[in-house]
Amino acid sequence: MALTGLDIFKLLPKTNCKKCGVPTCLAFAMQLAQKRAKLEDCPYVSDEAKAKLAAAAAPPMRKVAFGSGDARVQVGQETVMFRHEEKFHNPTVVAVSVSDKLSGQQLNERIERINALQFERVGTRIGVKAAVVINESGRADDFVRVCEAVSKGSSLALILVTQSLEAMRAAATKLAPAKPLLAAATRGTAEAMAKIARDAGCPLAAKGESVEELAEVSEKIKAGGVEDIVLWLDAPSLREQLYGLSRMRALALKRLFRPIGYPVIAFGGGGTADRQSAAAIALACKYAGIVVVDTIEPWAILPVLTAVMNIYSDPQKPVQVEPKVYAIGEPGVDSPLMFTTNFSLTYYTVESDVEASRVSSYILVVDTEGTSVLTAYSGDKLNEKSVAEAMAKHSVDKLVRHRKIIIPGYVAVLSGKIEEATGWEVLVGPRECSMLPKYLRETWV
Ligand code: SF4
Repeated sequence: MALTGLDIFKLLPKTNCKKCGVPTCLAFAMQLAQKRAKLEDCPYVSDEAKAKLAAAAAPPMRKVAFGSGDARVQVGQETVMFRHEEKFHNPTVVAVSVSDKLSGQQLNERIERINALQFERVGTRIGVKAAVVINESGRADDFVRVCEAVSKGSSLALILVTQSLEAMRAAATKLAPAKPLLAAATRGTAEAMAKIARDAGCPLAAKGESVEELAEVSEKIKAGGVEDIVLWLDAPSLREQLYGLSRMRALALKRLFRPIGYPVIAFGGGGTADRQSAAAIALACKYAGIVVVDTIEPWAILPVLTAVMNIYSDPQKPVQVEPKVYAIGEPGVDSPLMFTTNFSLTYYTVESDVEASRVSSYILVVDTEGTSVLTAYSGDKLNEKSVAEAMAKHSVDKLVRHRKIIIPGYVAVLSGKIEEATGWEVLVGPRECSMLPKYLRETWV
C-alpha cells in the first residue's frame, strides 16, 4: 500500500517555507503522493524521514536475478494480484532438476535433453531457463561435480539445492561467477547460509513449512546481509501450496508485509509427467516465480511454457507481428499474394497453412493494431483504405507481375471496394485458413 499524502505530510518539516516551489508542506506532500514532485525538492527533509519514505516507495515485491551473461533470469517485482489489473512482469522461470547421484553417460544425456527443451511458439522462443542440481547423494564432492558438469554443459541459469552447509559452501565457492540461486536456508541454518550467499554474491532461498516460518527465515537472511531472497514454501500438498502462495502474494502486495515481499520458488512434486505438468501450470498461475519439475518430456514441458507465455502476456496489448510482406518458401513474380492482419495468432496460423500447401507465396500483413480479421473489420481497422495503403507501402506491385490479391473469406464483403481502391483483381480465399492448402493447390493454380 503506497503512502497517502497525509502519511507523507506527517514526515515533512511543516514550516511552509515554499523552498520546494509550492505554498505549503501539505501541498508538497500531495504532489509527492501523486508522483508529481521529487523528495529532493525539499531541502529540509530529515534523514529519518528520507529513509521511511524510501522504504515506502520500494516495490512491494523485490526483483531477484540469478545466472550470468545470457543465462541471467529475473523473477519477482510483481505489482498486482490479477493479470487484468495491469499485467504480470517477470515470467515464471521453468526449471528442471538434475540429481547429483547421476554420473557419466546418464548425466550427460540428462543435460543434453534439458538443453533441448527449447521451442518456438507464435514467433517467440520459449524454453526451460534453469537447471536445478539437487544434492540427493548427501555428499559435497558429488554435488560440486554435478553442479560443475551442468554449468559447463548447458547455458542455463543454475539453482543449487542442498541443506548441507558443507556442500553449499563448496559449490557456491566454485560456481560463484555463474551466480546461482542457492536453496535453501532454514530456521536453523539461516545465518550460516546467508554468510555463504553473501561471500559468493548469490541470491538465497528461504525455506519454511508455513508463511510465518518463511517470514522469520527471510528476516534472518536479510539481517545476515543478503537482500536478494526467494521464498520456498515447503507445503505437504499442491492444495496447501497454492493456498499458501496466494496468501503470500496478498500479504506482499496488499499488506506490504516486507518479509514476504519476495518471489517464490515452487516444486511441482513427483509423479507422472502429466501430473507434474498440471501441477507446474497451477503453480505458475498462483504465483510461482520459479517452478521446478523433474520431467524432461517435451510434451509435458511445452504446455507449462505455453501457459506461462499466456499468463505473462500484456492483456492490453495483443501479441503482434511486424506489418510487412513475408515470403513463404521461395516465391517469384507469379506466386500468390494474400493478406492477413498483424494479430500474431492469426498470422502464424495463416503462415503454417501456407507452408503446408507447399505453394511458395507472399503474405502481406496489414497493421490492424494486433486484432484478428473479423475484429479488425468490425472496428474499421481492416478496410479498403488500410489494405491499399499496406500494398503501396510495401510495394507489392514490384513483387508480382499479376495483379491479383487473395483476401480472407471472412471479409469477402470488401472485395468490390478493394478492387476499386487498388485496381487489383480480388480473389476471395477460404473463410477458414485450414482450407488454404487446398485453395492454393487447386483454385489458385
Ligand atoms: Fe515544506 Fe519542505 Fe516545501 Fe518548505 S521546502 S514548504 S519545508 S515541503
